[in-house]
Order: sequence, then C-alpha cells, then structure tokens
Amino acid sequence: MLTRAALLDRLATAAQEPGPRGAVLVLRVLQQRDFRIDFGYDLAERAGLALERLLASVLRPHDLAARLGDDSFALFLPRLANANHALLAVNRLVRALRDELRVDGSILSSEVALGLCEIVDDGAGAAELLRRADLASAQAQRSGQTLVRWASGRVSGTIPLQDLREAVGGGELAVWLQPIWDLRRQRVVGAESLARWASPRHGWVSPEVFVPMAEQGGLIGDFTRWSLNASLRLCAEARLHQPDLQVAVNISPRIFAEDDVVEQVLAALRLWSVPPAAVVLEVTESAVMEDPHRSGRMLQRLHEAGLGVAIDDFGTGYSSFAYLRQFPATELKIDQGFVRALRSEARSLQLVRSMIDLAHHLGITVVAEGVEDAETLQILAGLGCDLAQGFHIRPPQPAEDFIATLTAPLPAGA
Ligand code: C2E
Ligand code: MG
Ligand code: MG
Repeated sequence: MLTRAALLDRLATAAQEPGPRGAVLVLRVLQQRDFRIDFGYDLAERAGLALERLLASVLRPHDLAARLGDDSFALFLPRLANANHALLAVNRLVRALRDELRVDGSILSSEVALGLCEIVDDGAGAAELLRRADLASAQAQRSGQTLVRWASGRVSGTIPLQDLREAVGGGELAVWLQPIWDLRRQRVVGAESLARWASPRHGWVSPEVFVPMAEQGGLIGDFTRWSLNASLRLCAEARLHQPDLQVAVNISPRIFAEDDVVEQVLAALRLWSVPPAAVVLEVTESAVMEDPHRSGRMLQRLHEAGLGVAIDDFGTGYSSFAYLRQFPATELKIDQGFVRALRSEARSLQLVRSMIDLAHHLGITVVAEGVEDAETLQILAGLGCDLAQGFHIRPPQPAEDFIATLTAPLPAGA
C-alpha cells in the first residue's frame, strides 16, 4: 500500500504517457464506523488490514493502491484497454468486498461507494484526477449507488438504465457463442450463449456490468426473453449443420420471480422447433440461493420437461453441496478459478478431481470453464472431465462465425 503522495507521484508520470492511461478510483467503505463501535478498535484495525490484503489480491500486479483515510482508498489502474475494463475491475472489487472480506474466520460484508475517473486528454494533473474520483465517490455515497463515474466536467451516474432499456428493445445486443468441447469424442458438442452489448454511446459493455443492471433495474424479464429467443433461434440454425448440438443459455435467477417462466421457456422452444434436450439452462449457485425453494421448483419443472440444468461457476458459492442436494442439476461447470490453478496448485488439482468424482457419482456431467492452455486440457482429460470450454479451445465469437465453423449443411431430407 502506497502513501497518498507516492500514488500521486506515479499518477502524474502515467498521466503524461501516450496510449491508454487507465483510471483512478476512490473507494469508501461504508460500514467501518459502525463496525468500530460494535466490535472495538482492535478488530476494526484488523478489518482494515484484511481490506488492504483483499484489495491487493483483487488488483492486477501493476495496479496501485493508497490509503486516504480510515475508510477510504485511492486506486490507480494503469493502461486499461478501454473504459469497460475499469468497470470490470469495479465489479470484481465490489464482489470480493461483499463475499470475501474475512477477519478471524468470519466474513464481514462491506458495502462500498466507488468513484471512477478515467484519465483522458484534458490536461488534468494527478491531484485533479484524484479529486474527481473522490467527488464521484462522495456522490455515490450520498445517492446510495455503488459506483458513480466522473464524466467530462460533471459527476454523473453510470450507464443510464434508459440506454440499456433501448438496447434490449432495439438491436444493440447480440448473442456470441463459445464452443464446448467433448474431451473424449474430441469434438465440439455444444456452445454457450454469451450476451454482448455494443453501445454506440458507451462502447463494448461487459455482461458483468449490464446483466446486474438489468436485474436491478427491472429489465431482467425483457432481457431474458430477448436472450432466450435469440439463443434458440441460433440453436435451431446451428442444428441444421450439426443436429446433436446443444446450446447453453445463462439465466438470471431473478427471472424466477415471474410466475410463468416455465411456460415462457417452453413456448420459446416450440416457436423455434428446438427440442428441450438441445438446451441447457445455466444458473449460478450463489444467486439461486436467494430463493432456493422457488427457483428449485421451477428448475425441476424445466428439468422434467427435458431441459438440462447446469450449475455455473461451481465452487464459488457458499453452499455447493446443499445445492447439489436440492437442485435437479444435469451439469456442473467448474469455476475458472479452479481450472486456472490446476497446473500450479496441487490442492486445486485435488479439488477438481473431487468435484469431478462427486458429480459422476451423482450422474452429473462436468464442464471445466476457462481452459487457457493445452496442458490444462490434458490434465482435465486425465481426471475424467467430460467437457471443456475456454480461450484455448476458442474464445466466444459472433454467432454467425461460430455457425460457419460447423460442418456443411445436411442434404435436404437427411
Ligand atoms: P459465465 O456464464 O461463467 O461465462 C463464462 C465467461 O468466461 C464468459 O465471460 C467468457 O467469455 C469467459 N471465458 C471463457 N473462456 C475463458 C477463458 O479461457 N479465460 C477467461 N479468462 N475467460 C473465459 P462473459 O461473456 O464476459 O460473461 C460473463 C458473465 O456474464 C457470464 O459468466 C454470465 O454469468 C454472465 N452472462 C453473459 N451472458 C449472459 C446472458 O445472456 N444472460 C445472463 N443472465 N448472464 C449472462
Ligand atoms: Mg455460464
Ligand atoms: Mg461460469
């Protein structure tokens, strides 16, 4: 952790450099003060240190952090390719602070108010950049938002919900597909549908930014209907080329608040003449845990109708095992974190081995996510993993490009 002066120094140098320059963040932790009164200074101090360690673990090696005060930090994220990468970093931070801040073995959930200022070519010096981020963070705290972005002379909110509403209604969203590879048969057997938003005003916006926005802004129903329809239409088209291909669609568990979700899914399958067995619905475990009974019932009905149900990011929630008992899972997707550590960490290897064995005992197919090199793929094959997905096999690509890689169309009548 740097001092404020040292951070300003580094910022001043970076602001002069050509090329992508990055962003400054100010982070205010909102629960520290109560915490101090409730638990005493000693524990509060350890919480502060835990927070510093957590920040260090979430940031990239060349990111810099400084403590501004008891409850606030300044972060400098240099050389970001574009503004969305700053939002990704913000997302990672917020998630880690909510889920992983531990003191003495217990998890302290911390709410934060973040202010973001991207470094642009307007001559602002280091102190001014920090002031802008600080202003934005104060504004976030006042208005109860997690993030406020400083934009060209005014403090504004993040992407306006109206922009997302228009995107959902108006053709700015697209489905990209990432192949899913069968380790035994050595071929592509499916694809995961991943939403992409190319906004004319905000550039590429990550689904990790706009899916939570849709959830919080009451747009998740419309977004999910768009995603299901687009994915199933593409699934039908892809299956003309490869009739056994499966498409996996991510589903926000928030959608289960709607009463007729099951009917909506089944209607979409009929509309595109896609058999239920060609579709896998992916849900993340932590999110479903918000209302396990209701979502469990709905997933059960979808499962009975013949659809696959995958637990996404398996191993990152708190209740993986409870989940396996309760949910009609047909697939388990091992989180990228475990997969990436396979080559270097013996414990991760054992954990992944156990997950695979556990799933197989339950008759569940295992997908490894985030496979980035040949060695990892080989290790996974050795562990008996069924399916794999990752940049090493192929990154997500526009749906039409994916379909073009499939075999030539079958002759009519075949
Ligand atoms: P996910 O469902 O776990 O999707 C996998 C994410 O990992 C994708 O990020 C994918 O591009 C990325 N990925 C794939 N292979 C690799 C690899 O080898 N290395 C690394 N580092 N990353 C890899 P993406 O597309 O940014 O999506 C992020 C998350 O946003 C998804 O995580 C999913 O939870 C959510 N999401 C994406 N599209 C949709 C959607 O249409 N609906 C809903 N509800 N959520 C979506
Ligand atoms: Mg997924
Ligand atoms: Mg995943």
